Amino acid sequence: MRVVLVGPPGAGKGTQAQFIASRLSIPKISTGDIFRANVSGGTELGKLAKGYMDRGDLVPDEVTVAMVRDRLSEDDAQEGFLLDGFPRNVPQAEILKKMLAEFGTGLDLVLELVVDDEEVVRRLAGRRTCRSCGKVWHVDFDPPAVPGVCDACKGELFQRDDDREETIRHRLEVYQEQTSPLISFYADEGILVGVDATGPVEEVTQRAMSALRRFAD
Ligand code: ADP
Ligand code: ADP
Repeated sequence: MRVVLVGPPGAGKGTQAQFIASRLSIPKISTGDIFRANVSGGTELGKLAKGYMDRGDLVPDEVTVAMVRDRLSEDDAQEGFLLDGFPRNVPQAEILKKMLAEFGTGLDLVLELVVDDEEVVRRLAGRRTCRSCGKVWHVDFDPPAVPGVCDACKGELFQRDDDREETIRHRLEVYQEQTSPLISFYADEGILVGVDATGPVEEVTQRAMSALRRFAD
């Protein structure tokens, strides 16, 4: 299956993507994770992306699209994938559509994770990420057994530079202006399903999985 997860920063896309992708046995492809890996690795791509990311702006489309094209060309993505954080605006969605058409396929479903702004701010303010395995935690809603240490791999947890209050506010504006038009874009294509993303993580996963099953039937 070829699936896109869309929703505001902090909606739980990364959290849900890991569960959904493993249940569907498809790779999770997160553009944010790929950019962050390049920033910590000090690559040219990372140096280019860092300023945009720190401000909470989108990295330019041509850079992002080239990176996604490379990733989608890898062997493990041929039978399906779950995209988290891409596309992020209508031009990216149009390019993705063309790219998949070149590969002779198309998207099956777009899951929109729906949460309000207040919940988003609560989630982002307490988000912690593992430096080693990338797993996402929350200081109150999903705390690790030992504060600051990843339960999964014992790696060190850190707070993302872009999870500061003013950057969070700016990212929400960027979402409203640039990303939310994707909702009607995909609704018009007839492949959009909204999922209530409030409540416990497992319940949200159940809702997403039943939306995917309804589609598969
Ligand atoms: P969140 O899940 O909190 O929305 P991400 O990890 O998806 O954040 O993205 C972090 C940053 O990486 C974004 O603010 C942006 O600078 C950059 N980024 C990620 N995906 C894209 C994309 N598709 N287009 C442009 N920039 C992107
Ligand atoms: P996104 O990728 O959409 O930016 P994340 O998956 O990184 O969002 O989640 C943002 C924060 O919210 C993380 O700290 C995560 O642990 C927490 N979170 C995710 N889902 C839920 C949920 N259903 N209830 C409470 N907190 C959640």
